[in-house]
Amino acid sequence: MPALLERFLRYVQIDTQANESSKTVPSTPGQLNLCRLLADECRALGLADVSLNEFGIVMATIPATAGCDSPAIAWLAHVDTSPETSGADVKPIVHANYSGGDIVLPGDRSKIIRVAENPALTDLVGCTLITTDGTTLLGADDKAGVAVIMTAAAKLMARAGGLPHGPIRLCFTCDEEIGRGVDHLDLAKLGAVCAYTLDGEGQGLVDSETFSADQAVVTVTGINIHPSIGKGKLVNAVRILGDFLTRLPTDRISPETTSDREGFMHPYHIEGGVARAFARILLRDFETARLREYAGLLERIAAELRAAHPRAQIEVKIVKQYRNMRDGLVHEPRAIAKALEAICAAGLEPQQTIIRGGTDGSRLTELGLPTPNLSTGEHNPHSPLEWTCLEEMQKAVDVLVALAHVWGEES
Ligand SMILES: [Zn+2]
Repeated sequence: MPALLERFLRYVQIDTQANESSKTVPSTPGQLNLCRLLADECRALGLADVSLNEFGIVMATIPATAGCDSPAIAWLAHVDTSPETSGADVKPIVHANYSGGDIVLPGDRSKIIRVAENPALTDLVGCTLITTDGTTLLGADDKAGVAVIMTAAAKLMARAGGLPHGPIRLCFTCDEEIGRGVDHLDLAKLGAVCAYTLDGEGQGLVDSETFSADQAVVTVTGINIHPSIGKGKLVNAVRILGDFLTRLPTDRISPETTSDREGFMHPYHIEGGVARAFARILLRDFETARLREYAGLLERIAAELRAAHPRAQIEVKIVKQYRNMRDGLVHEPRAIAKALEAICAAGLEPQQTIIRGGTDGSRLTELGLPTPNLSTGEHNPHSPLEWTCLEEMQKAVDVLVALAHVWGEES
């Protein structure tokens, strides 16, 4: 079995599901188990400066080749899996020499990976696919990224190509799926001029733009009293919040009606009762300035409802989440250029893509570390229908090795 596949299967069988309600760091102990294993494996590969801190962050260095003084770059992947689907007892199934057609998952035969919904499969006949048994997620998001980085590191440590490269910092993080991935990351310690997250779908893609993102919390405070004597007294926060939400546009700037570069406002959680009710709303756009327009629209609706319900309190609070990485990548044009060059060198047609979401790289780029996202062969993340392709993962390894050498030409 190829080392890449062996690594991947080892990692996905460790339950590292993140837990949003947990206050610990990392949010679940399983993540630490994988981090400890990765630190051990980094030491076994002979990497330098291997460290695992109390937050579960693993760092290590592939030392520069002799005489190469190129700047350090970093490769990042996250060890946690999505809270949306169970990550316990993952039973990966290896489909060698995939013969085409739909794949019925044996642990739950209602779960079918259909070619119609996965057009990428048509190009992968004869390849090795890895799926779940249908009862859990696979965790290729992002253990494909972890396995790809470890395999590329092993290759460079064995000096496979013999070409020069600068120092490469490996970094494995926890709790990306619950938005805490870079909370405890020490960028000075990482010490790279540019980084790459290995957390993208398919192959040959460079995600170079993400949404800019804010979250709005709309809170309505009403007046609760027994409904039998409510006349003229009761102010129902549930009704006012419901009214608020129905005033949001549904024929445009909603996720149901937008695609590509269009932004949206997305109410995704409501909670409360007569006395107090609140809604959480995602604000998303590729143009950061437009988030202010969305917030302005919420404020206007709030003002209308304040006028209609003078005894209620209606508050709109905007919390900044992350920013389009394009805004920061312009300061380090080499980050994308060299990724495109490396993808070509690995024999793939590179494609620059935008993600209707965020990555750890969006926040890192904003913090001053330009960090585009690269493909690792993931498909259908966060779902029991998740799958990956060994050949695509192998290409991602080739891209990383080429990337090391492309950066190795810099000084
Ligand atoms: Zn991911």
